[in-house]
Amino acid sequence: MSIFSHLEFDQHEQVLFCQDPSSGLKAIIAIHNTHLGPALGGCRMWPYASDAEALTDVLRLSKGMSYKSAVAGLPLGGGKCVIIGDPRKDKNPQLLRALGRYIEGLSGAYITAEDSGTSVADMKIIGEQTQYAAGVQEDDKHGGDPSPYTAYGCFVGLKAAVKHKLGSDNLQGLKVAIQGVGNVGYHLAKHLHQSGAELIVTDIFPEPLARVQDEFAATVVKPDQLSSADVDVYAPCALGGSLNTESIGQLKAKVVAGAANNQLARPEVSKLLQQRDILYTPDYVLNAGGIIDIAYQRSGQGQVAKMQHIEKIGATLTEIFNRADDQQLPSHLIADQLAEQRFGR
Ligand code: NAD
Repeated sequence: MSIFSHLEFDQHEQVLFCQDPSSGLKAIIAIHNTHLGPALGGCRMWPYASDAEALTDVLRLSKGMSYKSAVAGLPLGGGKCVIIGDPRKDKNPQLLRALGRYIEGLSGAYITAEDSGTSVADMKIIGEQTQYAAGVQEDDKHGGDPSPYTAYGCFVGLKAAVKHKLGSDNLQGLKVAIQGVGNVGYHLAKHLHQSGAELIVTDIFPEPLARVQDEFAATVVKPDQLSSADVDVYAPCALGGSLNTESIGQLKAKVVAGAANNQLARPEVSKLLQQRDILYTPDYVLNAGGIIDIAYQRSGQGQVAKMQHIEKIGATLTEIFNRADDQQLPSHLIADQLAEQRFGR
């Protein structure tokens, strides 16, 4: 497997392969850029089909974190960790502690937190071995879990996108399709439901679906039916790559705004969205609420300042959409330019 010439390598500063045979740990930590500060990014656990798939994912995610923190105005760099394994079957405390020792060995260059497949409880176990595990603040009303803040930032940003495209941010009666109703998708569904939106949802597991069906009267469809659903907004909140040639061709939504990282299967598919006159909300700008929360947990600044910072996501997106319109460029390219200016590319 080639590393330096990997399509997603993009001048990563460091990539660490971690293995602990006794606990079954196989993980990769990627540090993309630390110009603005230590690399902070979540730890994902997923049953990747191959090591190559895990490497591609961690490189893309880690790069995305450099861009996310820069656009959010945080003094942080970009990094990410992936654990190869099924979080429902393969996770154990020994494995998490072994990962914690690897993270400690990086002396603060990388700080971990929750992502898909890991929880606050997992961060606490990792934190037994390292001071660089975040997202564990006891006195926060969510106990350190950043996903409600990610969801709130997505909600604020989704409203800005809807206003830009459809002329009003009144969500009453607006139809929103959510792919993946896990930690972030659930909380986003809650905000949308409370604002009067109608929800069409899908997931690959029945439990999270039953919850949003019961609590928010959401309509459930099969995973392969969501992208063609007759909705105003498509919100990918599962894993990356859901926007590809096929799914974009099926979209009826006029706005894409969701929490998932790396929604564009390839950067060039954003042109397809542009051609179909669908507004794409750059994922890492929209989903920065969680990293903002973690940064504030670490700095000890208060809740009010944190919520104000998260709410700026709306204004940042409006600025990006306006510039994209003026320059006739895809919105994600404008976001990339903004990030690269800030982290010194
Ligand atoms: P999660 O694992 O709690 O939820 C993801 C949900 O998507 C799960 O319920 C899963 O069953 C479902 N899913 C997976 N593949 C699917 C598919 N093909 N079709 C339909 N559903 C599918 O994860 P999360 O923490 O809610 O994160 C969701 C996304 O948001 C991820 O891409 C993550 O990287 C991103 N994100 C999360 C945070 C955060 O604070 N948790 C912050 C920024 C970005």
